[in-house]
Amino acid sequence: MPISAEWGIRIDQDPRTGDYVASDARGVCPVCRRIVTFEILYQCFARIQGNNRNPWNVHRILECRSQSCSHISYVLLELSSLYGIDRNTDDFFIHPSLALEPKHPAVPVHISTDWAEAQKAFGVGAVKAAAVMCRRVLYGAILDKGCKEKPLHEG
Ligand SMILES: [Zn+2]
Repeated sequence: MPISAEWGIRIDQDPRTGDYVASDARGVCPVCRRIVTFEILYQCFARIQGNNRNPWNVHRILECRSQSCSHISYVLLELSSLYGIDRNTDDFFIHPSLALEPKHPAVPVHISTDWAEAQKAFGVGAVKAAAVMCRRVLYGAILDKGCKEKPLHEG
């Protein structure tokens, strides 16, 4: 996916060693959903041969600096160059991609479990699987309320 405007990365080259160093990790935390700065726990740069569009991969393990969150995320940036982000062509991947909505105590467990699975499927881009799980959530709710399964319109 493209790199959204909230995400920032600064890359410098150490003049003595020639090594690349990324700093200024900021963006939207997938768990607390705030725009935060991240502690960079680990990062490495790799030049991918044969990828002419985005040959630079930057792998990062980030920790949210929000005191109430501190969640750890993995981020992969596929960059066309190390001189800055090109938001039109560079690619971005984060895991987890989003936090699951908390389960509501009034919702039966089998329905909330299906809802959690639908969110997970959507989060990894498996939209058909997410649609199937949303259908299970819908049927679970309909049957929980005592409606007849077939035909639904008579429920
Ligand atoms: Zn957070």
